[in-house]
Amino acid sequence: MKAAAFAYARATSVVNALELLAAHGDKAKVLSGGQSLMPAMNLRLISPDILVDIGGLAELRGIAVRAGVLVVGALTRHVDLLRSTDVALHAPLLRDAVGHVAHPAIRNRGTIGGSLAHADPASELPACVVALDATIVIRGPTGERRIAATEFFKGIYETALSPDELLVAIEVPIADQGSTFFFQEYARRHGDYAVVGLAARAVVATGRFADLRLGFFAVGDRPLLAAAAGRLVNASVTPALLAEAATALANELDPQEDQQATAAMRRHLATVLLRRCVAALLARPELEAG
Ligand code: FAD
Repeated sequence: MKAAAFAYARATSVVNALELLAAHGDKAKVLSGGQSLMPAMNLRLISPDILVDIGGLAELRGIAVRAGVLVVGALTRHVDLLRSTDVALHAPLLRDAVGHVAHPAIRNRGTIGGSLAHADPASELPACVVALDATIVIRGPTGERRIAATEFFKGIYETALSPDELLVAIEVPIADQGSTFFFQEYARRHGDYAVVGLAARAVVATGRFADLRLGFFAVGDRPLLAAAAGRLVNASVTPALLAEAATALANELDPQEDQQATAAMRRHLATVLLRRCVAALLARPELEAG
């Protein structure tokens, strides 16, 4: 299928993009890498009147370290995250995750801003920004606003963005020296959207979690920062405590049933990932068995 007819405008600056969006309201769609938008248009799931192409805006591109924060421009492509030494050093979770996003051709064009704005609950990067306690930077007609990643995702393909706003950057707090990370997902094939996945950041001191943020994906209508993690912080993690946390996690999830997995299977896989994650981060392989 081909997309319905649409107009096209190539924005010359962020200000110009915002003017175009303001002029067309919810009839316009922002075009970044086009890797989710164009398939949706070709399938006629959406038919915007006009595309506002921000792909040429250099001001939205790039990765920088500023005042203890890793600032990632919205137009930073998946492949740029994979190659960046700053990402590898300060937010290795993003690098580990993005290797699971689709395939090289898609990673060469798809952007982090597009992935977060698209808000597919089975996507890797939304769960990472939740686990990393990142801030989403948004520009709109009245200026700039910042929102915690945990507040940004509102449902399946729904975010806190209004149609006249642009996601311009993501700010990731630079990892403390003691931070460790875990990323794993179940997918039918490497590069497919996950059946269930987990992106985690932890601080481990003297064999205990001083902090633990577990960002699950494909387990509900948005990435989930699991409250069950709290049971494992500042505690001696015994098999019994981990079993309690796994039960609490399963109760906390509200997974969808689809052609890939039942809700019960997703709950089970999430608890398996929890055990693997805790065992890996505490370097106690015996905990994985449950
Ligand atoms: P676009 O397609 O250009 O835009 C996506 C949506 O976000 C649109 O609604 C657009 O209007 C909006 N938008 C884009 N940028 C902004 C912005 N700066 N501000 C406000 N709104 C904006 N993704 C995964 O996470 N995991 C996968 O395993 C995966 N597999 C894929 C497999 C295939 C075959 C394909 C085609 C895609 C796959 N993707 C996957 C999606 C891919 O990662 C996309 O690149 C990404 O979801 C969207 O990024 P984009 O830059 O292409 O955005």
